[in-house]
Amino acid sequence: MTVSKFLLISSASLALSMVSFGKTEYTGDKFLGKNIITNLDVSDLEAGNIYEFYFQGVENSLGNPWYIPVTIIKGKESGDKFLINSGVHGNELNPILTSYKVKEKLTPENVKGTVTIVHGMNTSGLLNNTRGFKFSGGSETTSDLNRQMDSEKNTNSDQKYSTLIWKNLLSKNADRVIDLHTGGKGNQFPLFVYADFRNPIIKQMAMLTGADIIKDDEGEKGSVETSYVLTNIPAITFELGTSETQQKDIVARATTGVLNNLIYSNNLSNEKIKEYESVTRNIV
Ligand SMILES: [Zn+2]
Repeated sequence: MTVSKFLLISSASLALSMVSFGKTEYTGDKFLGKNIITNLDVSDLEAGNIYEFYFQGVENSLGNPWYIPVTIIKGKESGDKFLINSGVHGNELNPILTSYKVKEKLTPENVKGTVTIVHGMNTSGLLNNTRGFKFSGGSETTSDLNRQMDSEKNTNSDQKYSTLIWKNLLSKNADRVIDLHTGGKGNQFPLFVYADFRNPIIKQMAMLTGADIIKDDEGEKGSVETSYVLTNIPAITFELGTSETQQKDIVARATTGVLNNLIYSNNLSNEKIKEYESVTRNIV
């Protein structure tokens, strides 16, 4: 074998080892007392339990991996897979608080199927209070992960990060999805939903949030929402007020809106759906 052929094969093996389609994979190490995983397949987790993991992202400039907190509530009863994502934009805090408020309401007894909650996806953005993924080494450059989730690119660290998360954490663990955001920096924003009404299930999901405004929208290529929609998995983008702050009332309403969706999708029992008929006046 020539050197160049060897290098080619080695590179291919390395790229393949990053992306896994198998069962849940554990590194064998713990971070803050919780198991570290490099791949999640909720179907192989035992029913009737709550799992708290750290998903291992790419490495920072010190060679230390970014760790993303993930909770999986797997009900005793079988059912569909619902996924709630938060923090793809690192300066959006209401979504992360909402993700933990939702978690507090869920138990293996009241959940049917599986609810996966990602509590802050963009670790470097969260650390630096930036919307985008912040590159290491003092760079001012950031990258909007919510425009490249399904790009399958693996050249730069932001691309490796989003591709790894999409392939090994998000894409295969959901039948329905809510991706939590806020308005852009400096904007006072209401409770707002982007939803692609061409799919009636997505329209229903939007209505169940109780948002002030729903925008019928065909989505943004590379966003978490649209990456799912393009693979026929109903998803909405739920915008929770203003960035870089935490708003108690908005978080409370958003939590109810997410729980409403879990009830409607038959992932949460013993609760009553709240009706939000008035929201139909505000579809734009
Ligand atoms: Zn956002």
